Amino acid sequence: MAGEFDLIDWIRSNQAKSPLVSVGIGHDLAVLKWPANDLLLVGVDQVIDGVHFDSSAHPPEQIGRKVMNRNLSDCAAMGCLPAAAVVAVALPKDAPMEYAKRLYAGLREAGDAFACPIIGGDTATWDGKLVMSVTILGRSDGVRPITRGGAVAGNEIYVTGPLGGSILGRHLTFDPRVTLGRKLAGAATAMIDLSDGLSRDLGHICRASGVGAIIESSLVPIHPDAVELSQRDGVSALEHALNDGEDYELLLTGPAGIDGVIRIGRVTREPGIFLMENGSPRPLNARGWQHQVGL
Ligand SMILES: [Mg+2]
Repeated sequence: MAGEFDLIDWIRSNQAKSPLVSVGIGHDLAVLKWPANDLLLVGVDQVIDGVHFDSSAHPPEQIGRKVMNRNLSDCAAMGCLPAAAVVAVALPKDAPMEYAKRLYAGLREAGDAFACPIIGGDTATWDGKLVMSVTILGRSDGVRPITRGGAVAGNEIYVTGPLGGSILGRHLTFDPRVTLGRKLAGAATAMIDLSDGLSRDLGHICRASGVGAIIESSLVPIHPDAVELSQRDGVSALEHALNDGEDYELLLTGPAGIDGVIRIGRVTREPGIFLMENGSPRPLNARGWQHQVGL
């Protein structure tokens, strides 16, 4: 794109230093000094204008922060420490250079909060909408990575905060639970970040672990945003807490008595996910967020 070299220089000159990075932006590849004995964890997350955000309503800094924070939230879910990120941006061809800088400013601000520099990327223009993809590199740094596959019957099920109604704004402004995720990794048997909604993300854990689950409706923490949304749309606040997506809290399983989290149910040997309401169970069908912008 026109001015691409200016953009690369600008990104490089604004880049926080990291002891892991021996060659950063501006070369064919970046070079990292990976600490001995550290596992490398890798993930990628893509966001599309009109699906994950709305560029006509959301400022570019906010969009940049969101896509970086989604990746950092995946680091939280695995109990790993963010190390570096690589970014690909497809910009609408009429977008000014200033817009690209503002996107990167948001990406960088979110990354800097966890000492996670952008070490490379690619920016192109096309006649479509804004699309961004961030690849995240994480390191184990002494913490065993937690997958979705370790839940066992008899485990308790926990979440790290209240749920529902994130569409009112929290889906753009959330703080990834990286520090908490690393603490919980010592006790958790399975963990995932709540991007698709409790009912759907719990399904991911149950499938990967070969177990079922019973959630106690009275224990599900309901965010005030879920209550507000319920008053607007008539869907109960509990349903919003169970099914809305993009809370970016952590959902985990583990032994009884884990501190600092909210217990919402237990893992069962029998497959299927049930919601216990007033003493009787009903199937909890996954009706999670399908990543559509707007209500
Ligand atoms: Mg995730």
